[in-house]
Amino acid sequence: MPPAASTLAMLGGEKHIRWQAPAYNPIGQEEAVAVNEVMQSGVLSGFVGASGEKFLGGPKVQDFEAAIAKYYGSRYAISVNSLTSGLICAVGALDVEPGDEIIVSPWTMCASATAIVFWGAIPIFADIELDTFNIDPVAIAAKITPRTKAIMVPSIFGLPAKLEAIVELAHEHGLRVIEDAAQAPGVKLNDKFVGTFGDIGGFSFNYHKHIHCGEGGVCITDSEYLAQRMRLIRNHAEAVVEDKGVTSLGNMVGFNFRLGELEAAIAEQQMHKLDGYVAQRWQQGVKLNRLLGKLPGLHPPALEPDQMHAFYMYGMRIDAEGLQSAGLAVNDFGSLGKIRDLLCEALRGEGVPGVCSRYVNVHMLPMYQKKIAFGTRGYPWQAHENGRAVDYTRGICPQAEVLNEQSYIGLSLCEYAFDDVHIDDIAAAFKKVWKSLDQLRPKP
Ligand SMILES: *Cc1c(COP(=O)(O)O)cnc(C)c1O
Repeated sequence: MPPAASTLAMLGGEKHIRWQAPAYNPIGQEEAVAVNEVMQSGVLSGFVGASGEKFLGGPKVQDFEAAIAKYYGSRYAISVNSLTSGLICAVGALDVEPGDEIIVSPWTMCASATAIVFWGAIPIFADIELDTFNIDPVAIAAKITPRTKAIMVPSIFGLPAKLEAIVELAHEHGLRVIEDAAQAPGVKLNDKFVGTFGDIGGFSFNYHKHIHCGEGGVCITDSEYLAQRMRLIRNHAEAVVEDKGVTSLGNMVGFNFRLGELEAAIAEQQMHKLDGYVAQRWQQGVKLNRLLGKLPGLHPPALEPDQMHAFYMYGMRIDAEGLQSAGLAVNDFGSLGKIRDLLCEALRGEGVPGVCSRYVNVHMLPMYQKKIAFGTRGYPWQAHENGRAVDYTRGICPQAEVLNEQSYIGLSLCEYAFDDVHIDDIAAAFKKVWKSLDQLRPKP
């Protein structure tokens, strides 16, 4: 007998989705033309690591920076060869001392925290909100100490963090704010761009982001002082400070974080397409929210009326009560995490692309668990006056931990070029799984 239409594919039923999703690709003819122009000029980089005209890079780098500054309405834009490099510039620019503390989210790409470690400063992880996945201002407030210097705020998955509250808190305590807006380009909160709330905002132009140039990034700021320091760190600071008359030498350790002309030419073209790609993703996310909103025990991304969402990831969570009402009791499985993993397996079985059952708990990475980054003797944590007192044990960020271990389900929208039919099919596959939840129950 053939399996019933409702039989889950993972149990031998028919797969709901049979198409292969096309890969996301924002690169087109405009980029090819721009690259060709640079190729013909023969100037693939205009940078020189010395004071003078070429300290600021070639024409395409400067055009790209001007386009960024104009778009975000910020005074300065500093391009870099990745946002990882950009965040290193940003933290170094703040005059941090080794042992200073910077508060950061555990639910972010590891580079948000590594940029802090890099200067010998200490990442202090503040927990996230269950429904937005963003760092919680209340948790931040509880982590502020006399050693706190700054707050590093990702707007993760493309949803604005509680930026107004965080900036206000920072001002009360005399702290700086760096916004890691890698996943939220072109996104507004109350009519103001994410990335422009803090002292410095950073955007990634890495291959996996909404728009990209292969590898690249950019930082924005309204502060001339911070802009100059970021430019110095980007381009061999120690060799340039004398000529530039720079006398405050703290963190004037330089690198080659410069963006090439080819990448800058691509990145500038990509900027023209940003709004279109973000709007497209917004439509898909909102549609998914509408289609998935009524499935018991499933919470789609939280949306507020005054904010956009770039849907870099479509992050959801499940809850035990809702699932129990639909017939799945945690007790029968041992943990909510087991149910989550089964649901992900069932969704993948139906052919849903990009299903993720984890994101990240940065504080649980071995570098933090063992407190070893530079050499083998525990630096930079050893340099901290409180030494080993900094706590990274499991339990410091309970919401982030429970999401990763038990209840998070993500759809990696950034990887695919979905159309409306794909989104309908994905939602239908979710509905099939939710109609067939009883099939997931352990056999007695
Ligand atoms: C991608 C990303 C980065 C790093 O950007 P790169 O350009 O790849 O170095 C930093 N933070 C977050 C939140 C990111 O998603």
